[in-house]
Amino acid sequence: MQRELSLDIKWNGSLEWSSAMKDQEKLIESVNELQSYPKYTPTSIIGHKKAKKLEPHINFRGNENIIFSKADGAINPKDAISKMIDVIKKNGGSVLYPCKFEKIIESNDSFSKVKTSMGILKSENVIFCNGVDVDNSFNVNFLKKPRPGVIIKTKPQKNLINSVVYGPKIHAHQQSNGQIIIGEQITAPIKENTKDHIKRINKHFKSMVKSGTDLNPSEVLIGWRPIPKDDLPIIGKFKNKSVYIAVMHSGISLAAIVGNLVTQEIVDEVDSLLLKDFRPSRFF
Ligand SMILES: Cc1cc2nc3c(=O)[nH]c(=O)nc-3n(C[C@H](O)[C@H](O)[C@H](O)COP(=O)(O)OP(=O)(O)OC[C@H]3O[C@@H](n4cnc5c(N)ncnc54)[C@H](O)[C@@H]3O)c2cc1C
Repeated sequence: MQRELSLDIKWNGSLEWSSAMKDQEKLIESVNELQSYPKYTPTSIIGHKKAKKLEPHINFRGNENIIFSKADGAINPKDAISKMIDVIKKNGGSVLYPCKFEKIIESNDSFSKVKTSMGILKSENVIFCNGVDVDNSFNVNFLKKPRPGVIIKTKPQKNLINSVVYGPKIHAHQQSNGQIIIGEQITAPIKENTKDHIKRINKHFKSMVKSGTDLNPSEVLIGWRPIPKDDLPIIGKFKNKSVYIAVMHSGISLAAIVGNLVTQEIVDEVDSLLLKDFRPSRFF
């Protein structure tokens, strides 16, 4: 797909480490578990000297247990979405935006009819991948109370980060246009304002990245994490064949495999064994 759509992806892997001993031990345990499978993506534990060669501007503080996942990459989502929309249109599809789903009018195994801000739409398959709004759509309680998280995008700047770095308090990557995207690991303190968020994250960033300068944000966003009640993805038909749900946290990491499996289930009408533990039916 990358070649077909000329997607902008930086394939420089990812590095993950923690400053807390307990979290560090958990990370090592996860790598050991991963390596015990007959087949696994290339993941190893490297020391700060080796990590420094990959990321000269990152301060690893002498950490000897840095998880290096060589096969990871970071995509430019806006660019990817616009290229995907172009291909959908080129192949005869259409994209309605902005278009708000309002309610299901009628639904059975053959079709569903839904009311949207652009009128009533009827389809053999309606797929709900509307994040934290899934509960409202079906009047159900599949999700935990959504947790907000701050995301900062900087103005383009000189190259500081090559891979995806997941360090203490924050994770960050730099896109090919020089913009750095930083996500915070904690739930955003809701009482704080944009200025406080920038100040707090700037402090963590400067402790992780030796840039010498303050963050120069172009956007400060709050994202709402859709977290299923049991933390596992919710993927599959909902009550009848024409309604399908896909909602999860870590939806970024899982996007490629989930996209692939969901396509097979819907287009080829097969039930994927890999998805059998994640069906919506476990909640009712
Ligand atoms: C700060 C932060 C950090 C994160 N870090 C990571 C990470 O490191 N790795 C990882 O894998 N995941 C991470 N996540 C989680 C990840 O962002 C989500 O799992 C993922 O975005 C879920 O994708 P989705 O497409 O299911 O839902 P979303 O990305 O939430 O998209 C849902 C879409 O549906 C639209 N929508 C909602 N209601 C309606 C409606 N009624 N009508 C029409 N459209 C509607 C919304 O506008 C939105 O565009 C993070 C999230 C946050 C907030």
